[in-house]
Amino acid sequence: MEYITLNTGYKMPILGFGVYQIPQRDTERAVRDAIDAGYRHIDTAQLYRNEVGVGKAISKAEFPREDFFITTKLFTSGYQSTKKQIDQALKYLQTDYIDLMLIHWVIRDYHGTYQALEEAFHEGKLRSIGLSNFNQNQVQDILDHFEVKPSVLQNEMHVFYQRTPLRQFSKDKNIQFESWAPFGEGMNNTFTNDVLRTIAKKYDKTVAQIILRFITQEGVVAIPKSVKKERMMENFDIFNFKLDEWAMDTIRGLNEERSLFGWP
Ligand code: NAD
Repeated sequence: MEYITLNTGYKMPILGFGVYQIPQRDTERAVRDAIDAGYRHIDTAQLYRNEVGVGKAISKAEFPREDFFITTKLFTSGYQSTKKQIDQALKYLQTDYIDLMLIHWVIRDYHGTYQALEEAFHEGKLRSIGLSNFNQNQVQDILDHFEVKPSVLQNEMHVFYQRTPLRQFSKDKNIQFESWAPFGEGMNNTFTNDVLRTIAKKYDKTVAQIILRFITQEGVVAIPKSVKKERMMENFDIFNFKLDEWAMDTIRGLNEERSLFGWP
């Protein structure tokens, strides 16, 4: 596993396991399989309604809590409600600290929401705090109004939407960029793309592995999702090879710099 160091000084595994759209009843099993496959970084959210399953799998694991990096995300619900929701997430996840808490979207009172995150950060409940689905102006607005910097910006990012300008902005501000939907959920025929297949053949890897290697080699954190253990293992097995500059540039050439999900 490779790690990046956040602006809070904490280390974050560059590859994690995302649990979006995994029903609560299947989540404990899926996260247990992911832990067996080697993942120690799990990405969940209040919206996914499966934090309890994540908490169960991690608390029953044979590894100590400190070995794990848990991210969860909150609705933008304002100061008072966010404070309650942070305590609820700690309870659901069966932990006394969360590694990374993100604001899930920019809606309503995101200043009040961020203020509650900042306080929980000072109290030690949240080790790092950050943003998801924020554009450059909205990130700048947080930087202008708060003392604690966001550590992470988690946005849609995959080979067809590489977020080149936003990633550069993030880098300049010392905010780690994280990709959600690293496979674009398979849209745009990602897994059968000819360019990616050619590169996969050259490296004797799968298209999924080439994509994840590309994203992480760009210095971006990736959190692929799968409910199948073989795919979890396949997606984890990307640290024993390196793409050369030709392959990196060729994949950069696939960028259409537009959302596959219709997000603004
Ligand atoms: P993804 O791009 O990770 O695609 C997942 C799908 O790809 C799987 O359901 C499966 O069909 C396929 N797949 C996975 N591994 C494969 C393999 N090796 N070979 C072939 N097919 C494979 O999509 P995602 O789940 O939407 O995104 C990943 C994670 O990002 C989520 O689980 C969630 O944690 C996070 N996320 C965050 C936001 C946000 O708003 N912050 C939004 C979407 C997703």
